Amino acid sequence: MAKTQEQELSELQLQAARDAVEKARIEKELAANQLELQRAQLEALKRENKDARAKEEATGNIRKHAAVRMKQTKEETARKQAICNHRMGGKNLDGLYNGGDVFTTYQVEYNNFGLAQCRCIRCDKIVKPGEKDFDEIFRLPRKGLEAPKPVQFRFARG
Ligand SMILES: [Zn+2]
Repeated sequence: MAKTQEQELSELQLQAARDAVEKARIEKELAANQLELQRAQLEALKRENKDARAKEEATGNIRKHAAVRMKQTKEETARKQAICNHRMGGKNLDGLYNGGDVFTTYQVEYNNFGLAQCRCIRCDKIVKPGEKDFDEIFRLPRKGLEAPKPVQFRFARG
């Protein structure tokens, strides 16, 4: 039995409606998946930002602590230099801070250009040429810590 035109039309309309439903279903699923992907991207971005903030904070703390330590070291050195009499020896507790010897703790150091400066090995005070008291300090009696001498090699003759 052949289909009537009406039946055929009705079947075509039904098929078109089914396709429309299928298309809508696919679009809905696609949108849901895109949303899920965007959520995941957002979470990843949030984590990245959080890590960056934590890193920034840690770096800031390290810098702050370094600055505090540097200031403390500077203050400690200034205290030592204020009480140091730049002399060798010394006895008991006083000897920890001040020497009682005739020899100075200033050692003469030379740089690559042969220019000298005097450095106290007890308090790290440096006196450079041209500064107050340099000539006097340079002439003070000292012992020990001589400049390194070059090693002389000799070949044995046989
Ligand atoms: Zn000193």
